[in-house]
Parts: sequence; C-alpha cells; structure tokens
Amino acid sequence: MRIVDVRERTVPISRYATRDVGRGGLDTTAVAVVTDVRRDGEPVVGFGFSSIGRFGQGGLIRERFAPRLVAAGEELASASGDNIDPFRAWDRVMRGEKPGGHGERCVAVGTLDMALWDAAAKIAGQPLHAFLADATGSRSSGAPVPVYAGGGYYFGADDTARLTDEVRGFLDRGHTHVKIKIGGLPLAEDLERIEAVLSLLPGADHLAVDAMNRYDPDQAVRAAHAMAPYGLRWFEDICDPLDFATHARIAELYPPPLAAGEALLSAADARNLARYGGLRADRDVLVFDPAHCYGLPGYLRIVRVMESAGWDRRAFQPHGGHLFSLHVAAALGLGGSEANPHNFQPFGGFADDAVVDGGRVRPPEAPGIGFETRSGLITLFRSLLRP
Ligand code: MG
Repeated sequence: MRIVDVRERTVPISRYATRDVGRGGLDTTAVAVVTDVRRDGEPVVGFGFSSIGRFGQGGLIRERFAPRLVAAGEELASASGDNIDPFRAWDRVMRGEKPGGHGERCVAVGTLDMALWDAAAKIAGQPLHAFLADATGSRSSGAPVPVYAGGGYYFGADDTARLTDEVRGFLDRGHTHVKIKIGGLPLAEDLERIEAVLSLLPGADHLAVDAMNRYDPDQAVRAAHAMAPYGLRWFEDICDPLDFATHARIAELYPPPLAAGEALLSAADARNLARYGGLRADRDVLVFDPAHCYGLPGYLRIVRVMESAGWDRRAFQPHGGHLFSLHVAAALGLGGSEANPHNFQPFGGFADDAVVDGGRVRPPEAPGIGFETRSGLITLFRSLLRP
C-alpha cells in the first residue's frame, strides 16, 4: 500500500460565473494521489483540492509535502495492511515540520489530506462519511445534513435586485437558511441589503452575515450595535481573526450568535480563541475549514480543543460548501455545513443530482468523497492524470 505518484495543478476559481463580482484573485490547487492499489484494472486515485477562499498551494505541495508522501513507501499502510492509513500519511507528511508557522502550509497539507481520505475510503469501498465515522469511533447514519446557502457577494450593478434574485434562487432549490457578505459597503447600505433579504425569509434567524474579517475594531462595534436588533442567525468573521480582544468586546455587546474560526488554521489558534475570544459556547458557531487547518487530523484536534473548553460539536459548521465538508459534518455529527450552490465552480456544491430538502442534503453514497458525482469537477481532476 503505497502512494506512487502525486499530480497537482493550480487553477483559478471565480466567486460567480458573472464577471462583475470580483474574483478576488483566488485560485486553488487540485491534486491526484495515485496509489498502487488496483480496482477493475485501474489504480485507485484520491482527489483533493485546497478548499475555497484562500489560495493554491502548488509550490509547497510540489517541493516539500508530495515528495515525502511518495518516499514513505509502505510506511503508509494501515495496521491490517489492506489500506492506506491517512493518519500515518499525515504524520509522515508533517515529519520534521517545526511548531508554529501555520500560515499557509496548513492548506498544502490539508489539500493532500483530502485526497488521502478519498483514496482510503475508495479502497475500503465506503463513502467518506461512513469510513471517517469508523476511523474516529463516531457513528454516521448518512442522514441528511443541515446546510445553508452561502453567497450574497456584491454585484457591480443592480446589486439589490440581483441579490434578492440570488436568495430567491436558493429558496427555490430547497434551501431554508442563507448567508450574505457585509463589510464591503458603508454600513447603512449593508443594512439595506440585510433588510431586502430578510423580506424574503420567514425570520431573521434564517440569515447569517459574513464580514470577511474586514472590520477594524471601531467599525466592528458600530456594525454590532446596528445589527443587534435584527437577531440574525450569526455574525461571522468580524475582524482580524487573531484580534481576540475585539472578538471578546463584540461578544459582550452583541447578544445574538457570532461565528469565528474560518481564518484560524491550527489547534493552537483554536485554543487562543477559546481562551481569549470571549465567545459563548451556548450560542456561537465555529466555521473552521477542515481542508485549511491541516486536513482532518488538524481539524479533529480543533474539535477536541473546543470540546474540552466546554463546546458541543454541534457548534461546528465547517466552511467550504463542498462535498468534503459535507461528509465531515455527517461523520462527526456536526451542526451542519455550508453549501455553495452556484459559486466557486466547479468545486462548490454537492452531487449533480443532490436534492436539498427542507434545508438538508445527504452526502453521496459513492465510494470516497464522491467527486465522481460532479461531472465538471471529476473531468478537471481526471485531466491531472494525463501524461
Ligand atoms: Mg466567512
């Protein structure tokens, strides 16, 4: 049981298909991890990517982490010898890494980790949610997972009309909860956008807002005071992710739920959030992205850190809006998952034939993560394997 080859390519991703929503210069790295295991005459290949919202990691993967994986040979085999053990692979990839320095390598490692779990679940013939539940001692029934539709970026023209069209589209597809962006316009204009969306929803607890870490401390206070009366579902990514003092200040003056963690990338960061961020375990939401924080072994450490600080794992709603986060939420019994129904294509979203029913969606039952259930995405992944 070995990894014989790792292919990678960094590709641009757009928030929306339309050109007047800024791309933000984003890209992501797609990887294919080729094993020496064969099924139906073909090698089993795991696929992964650097999730969404940060950047591609081709350099670190190519120069540092993929060579370690290939050089590890049989060290990666599970105890029973019949599969790759993703935890052993993670230890091998991280061997020699120094404490700290969580800035970007966590994303490179998480990218390979996603592909390793895909490969291992495929070798086991199980969907990832079931394989991961077995591997971590939890139980996944494959029951539908609560999801919310992420979107609500700023359109370059006719913003309010197009924003409300977008939200109507989410509702027509079976979504019940949505999240929109704030912090990119003067506060009064953001409040108008919030009110326009609220007019389409049954209650304010169906709408979350995401400031994308843009507010300085004073702006955060003004926004919190202005939004508190709405009683929104949550207020996410308030300020600089490491400004725990501002988090704590907002938590004192803003009674509705807050959400944090998307731009915190390690268990050490999570511990600081728990200690100093002032967040409230009875209502606040944790949006760490499993692929951005060193993959599943790193994410599981974060879950343990927060549980030992008194949090329930249902407070976790992983960022990403794609199949991997959906399986993770199902396997670990998390509170839900983001969905990216039409943004960040072809990476965002679930199976092509997935049905969102009452705001819930089932992870696919195909072996592995089930990227094969997304025709546009699997075409891109398979193109990595061409000579
Ligand atoms: Mg966010």
